[in-house]
Amino acid sequence: MTTLLLATNNRHKTEEITRLLAGLPFDVKSLRDVGSYPPTVEDLSTLEGNALKKAREAHAATGLLSLADDTGLECYYLALAPGVISARYAGENVTYADNNRKLLWELKGVPPRHRNARFRTVVAVVGKRIELLFEGKVEGRILEAPRGAGGFGYDPLFVPAGHAKSYAEMSMEEKNTLSHRAEALKKALEFLRTV
Ligand code: IMP
Repeated sequence: MTTLLLATNNRHKTEEITRLLAGLPFDVKSLRDVGSYPPTVEDLSTLEGNALKKAREAHAATGLLSLADDTGLECYYLALAPGVISARYAGENVTYADNNRKLLWELKGVPPRHRNARFRTVVAVVGKRIELLFEGKVEGRILEAPRGAGGFGYDPLFVPAGHAKSYAEMSMEEKNTLSHRAEALKKALEFLRTV
């Protein structure tokens, strides 16, 4: 069985990805299962750059087939902000709630028709002689107040197009059937089946 290292420290992401990988012949490991190495500094200006950097460093440190993702929430009214800085939109070491407050502030008074946004995930897979990128995107809109207690990050503010519930009002299974990360991972899994 091939070992696949998920190069993330985010517990929610590890859980989501592990569920998506269920049934595939991979021994899935997270960073907690492998010897520590210096954390990747996500200082590049694109999701693609940061995802590749995380997967390359994980592979270089462990020799394992490594998968990393980078996600951004892109709001059209804000010229695709917060995008690559989604995790630190309100500053360094902030909470999800701080970022959500900042987003609501930036969109204060903006009418529903201008609150369109998309989540975009880039998944990078790096192994011996392998470097690949996969993308997943979900269009939707930003609410005027948070709704729901599930998920993480901007989930309480994001309603995918064609749905009534925010990501945070959905079960993990429901979110996984339609999410940006699920789409990028499904594309990556199509490839991994062939490894
Ligand atoms: P990351 O760089 O992929 O960890 O994602 C950056 C930030 O985007 C995270 O800190 C979250 O705030 C947000 N984010 C990523 N994925 C999701 C998601 O599935 N739902 C809501 N927010 C997310």
